[in-house]
Amino acid sequence: MREKDQNVCPHCQIGRLHLRLLTYVHVYNGTLVSVPNTPAWECDFCHTTDYDNNALMRIEALVGQAGPPPNRHRPRPKPELRNKHRAYSVEN
Ligand SMILES: [Zn+2]
Repeated sequence: MREKDQNVCPHCQIGRLHLRLLTYVHVYNGTLVSVPNTPAWECDFCHTTDYDNNALMRIEALVGQAGPPPNRHRPRPKPELRNKHRAYSVEN
């Protein structure tokens, strides 16, 4: 009886939890961090998904230690737009 109750979903008390590998996505200080293959428990009845606590702690420790990875994305205007905007500007 006790072993059977081990993986019962804590949200609906009906379904069973199954281990899945999902992509954990979270925004840390404005930087989107995406962690593929993060272990998560998904209920086969209500489909509530809880990420594995140990995995979350590892991610938080990694991100918390050095802060979020630098956000190097700098949106650039399309070349034709840039030329249009700079047609009459002199650099330096
Ligand atoms: Zn459930």
